[in-house]
Amino acid sequence: MIVFRNARLIDCRGGPPQENQSIAVADGKISAVGPAAAVDLPADATEVDLGGKTMMPGFIDCHVHILWNPDPKAVLPRPSKIPLRDYHYFKARSLLYGARAAKMTVEAGFTTIRDVAAPNDSIFALRDAIAAGEYKGPRIVATGACITHTGGHGLESDNDMSIRADGAHEVFKAVRQQITAGADAIKLMGGTRPALSPPFRGRPGYTTEEMKPGVDESHRAGLKVAVHAHSSTEGIKYSILAGVDSIEHGFPLDDEAAEMMVERGAYLVPTLAVNPAAIQAIEEGHWTFPGSEEQIYRMKDFALESMALAKKHGVKVALGTDAAMPLVMHGDNAWEFELMVEHGLTPMEAILAGTRNAAENIDLLDEIGTIEAGKAADIVVVAGDPLEDISVLRDQDCIKLVLQAGKAIKDAGVLSASDQ
Ligand SMILES: [Zn+2]
Repeated sequence: MIVFRNARLIDCRGGPPQENQSIAVADGKISAVGPAAAVDLPADATEVDLGGKTMMPGFIDCHVHILWNPDPKAVLPRPSKIPLRDYHYFKARSLLYGARAAKMTVEAGFTTIRDVAAPNDSIFALRDAIAAGEYKGPRIVATGACITHTGGHGLESDNDMSIRADGAHEVFKAVRQQITAGADAIKLMGGTRPALSPPFRGRPGYTTEEMKPGVDESHRAGLKVAVHAHSSTEGIKYSILAGVDSIEHGFPLDDEAAEMMVERGAYLVPTLAVNPAAIQAIEEGHWTFPGSEEQIYRMKDFALESMALAKKHGVKVALGTDAAMPLVMHGDNAWEFELMVEHGLTPMEAILAGTRNAAENIDLLDEIGTIEAGKAADIVVVAGDPLEDISVLRDQDCIKLVLQAGKAIKDAGVLSASDQ
């Protein structure tokens, strides 16, 4: 057992931070939380004085593609860069890359991610190998292959990352395939990407009628449904009416769409990092945006407007970066906390989006997302006060300790100094 003393605790249950808290960790779980007098120190326990450092739940990123390399200069593994004839090689390289990206991600304090489009075999293998303790990485909630329509996003390279399905029956069948294959959640491409699918640009991908039976089937199997809804407000509304659980990207939002999301309890996963990163990649000459550059600047405005509408209406927001998009780096997921604050959330709202809300969004709130007795000991200890300066969460020198289910993933002198 470890008993941490003198923590400044942001437990992410919704209240303000509490000073001078004690947290006991045993058998991979948080066993007690409270003022020093309320948390005993058994004879065999190690006592660690945090000296007022901030303790928070492990961070959660709801939108990652862990197998892809975000470096636009890299040839591999980037799905857009590989001809079909080399596909098996690409998949093997992606899996090896993913193991490395997983390590960078968890060391940055992101103890859980949701991966929202990858070949079933690769991502399920990585998920299970990490869960078995064979590799360092975040707990992975994996959708496996996404489900998309003819001409839709996800089909840019014809491969195992997507299942093409048109009409309610095919979508329903694809959902059942994914449930059978071992998916933890379902990803539908409801809206479209603006540039790569010109006939569908700005139009919804799926109709409500196409999605609903598949969404209902997912829910019967206990799986949440995330929908890529981008560049089409109508696509967002169609998806909400079909009963999906989260809208990924989610711009442009309007008042009606925001109200519909609140009414049905759907989450917005705004993936704010994508636009500034893409602009940087273009401006530095590393990347050519497949559409017009004007579109990417407009998307940045859409993201600002959508976040303002989400806040105005009280839409639930969960953190997601889209790490793997150009220059949205694995291990730099905490940039999204900063961007959320730049887009109008308070630091505490941003922190909740990346902990408690994210856990609820991926259906793991019973296990993770807050610091409470009985939950998994997924814990980050930070030097500095993220409520004063959110950027400390992104600064790897400030991330002093990362525990995942009680196991030290990163320890910059917190446990090691106390061991002696
Ligand atoms: Zn994505």
